[in-house]
Amino acid sequence: MTDRMTPPPALGCRSAPVLKQRGQREVFCGLTGIIWLHRKMQDAFFLVVGSRTCAHLLQSAAGVMIFAEPRFGTAILEESDLAGLNDAHAELDREVETLLARRPDIRQLFLVGSCPSEVIKLDLSRAAERLTQLYAPKVRVLEYSGSGIETTFTQGEDACLASMVPVLPATQERNLVVVGALPDVVEDQMLSLLADLGVGPVQVLPARTIDADVAVGPNTVFALTQPFLSDTHAALIRRGARHLAAPFPLGEEGTTAWLAAIASEFGVTQDTFDTVTEAPRRRARQAVAQAAEALDGKSVFFFPDSQLEIPLARFLTRECGMRAVEVGSPYIHDEIHGPDLDLLPAGPQISEGQDVDLQLDRCRAARPDLTVCGLGLANPLEAEGLSTKWAIELVFTPVHFYEQAGDLASLFARPLRRKRILNGPAL
Ligand code: SF4
Repeated sequence: MTDRMTPPPALGCRSAPVLKQRGQREVFCGLTGIIWLHRKMQDAFFLVVGSRTCAHLLQSAAGVMIFAEPRFGTAILEESDLAGLNDAHAELDREVETLLARRPDIRQLFLVGSCPSEVIKLDLSRAAERLTQLYAPKVRVLEYSGSGIETTFTQGEDACLASMVPVLPATQERNLVVVGALPDVVEDQMLSLLADLGVGPVQVLPARTIDADVAVGPNTVFALTQPFLSDTHAALIRRGARHLAAPFPLGEEGTTAWLAAIASEFGVTQDTFDTVTEAPRRRARQAVAQAAEALDGKSVFFFPDSQLEIPLARFLTRECGMRAVEVGSPYIHDEIHGPDLDLLPAGPQISEGQDVDLQLDRCRAARPDLTVCGLGLANPLEAEGLSTKWAIELVFTPVHFYEQAGDLASLFARPLRRKRILNGPAL
């Protein structure tokens, strides 16, 4: 299915030595995922059991919603809760009762653990079981941790989706489950491509509503659209589903390879595949070529942040002409990241985890043309004359599949163009 694609490099990065480091790290916590998940799941509510800090993080990351009833909130743990003076479970029950009475539209309630709830060892799984018994079948109550002690920011989505897998209905039907929260418009493009290929039935996790009937069983195959879903991947395998390993659908090549893995599983002919993908592939290639003019020949350094780093490095090196100096990822999972590592030409240092000071030293020594990193590192590096791209933007912006490939390249090109304009034509 991929015969007209650029051949893989003679030596990819899958077996390259990985620099593993554990030390201080600079990333957002898993609560951040609520910002995109609450938009995706239209009948869900995310109740963070946390502190005022957690509430502030959510408010500032999401923007204060004045005109709409938000689908997230924080049950604040006060000092007396943290000191163990109150029955936190009874207080949580009261909060949930008030919330569900006021918001009859809520069908799925996620209790989201935080650093404070973990420190006082508040057992949210017990709370979720108790509340499910109280409110089922109208409301399903689940729990997961978004705590900064346990999760980096994209792991919040992974923890949320993994919490849903055990309660998905069982099926014996052969179906495809596509896993990962995408903006609706991008998800619709993907579903339309799969329908044109004749692949089905297709379900998406997370679904927009609880009634979408995502079901899983021994004849289910699943494809990930996000590379940070390792717990969800493991949970689906425990339910008997089989993973279709493939590069991620970022850029023209990644999208084609991702679709090809599914098409091959569902017996789609090469002719049908070519007919369906030819026009969008051409559009994607043209859009990338236009945007990548500023990227060609430039070097890029990835700090570990979103777990999108490996597929992005594959896209930037193979489709945009960049050279990767270091590709850092919080975690590397061979089954999930292996197909992208196979395509990433040997050369860059692959690193897993972070000791931020040592990594900053490597970055300063390399002086890359572009550094992809978290917000906390971007400003100091800009002050030192390095161009940066905020990793979090890549999670908030539609970047997957053919029609977004040009926008994805543009996101990286923008800081380089800005620098060229500021510094004049010599750069
Ligand atoms: Fe901060 Fe932890 Fe709350 Fe995240 S969960 S906002 S890291 S206190």
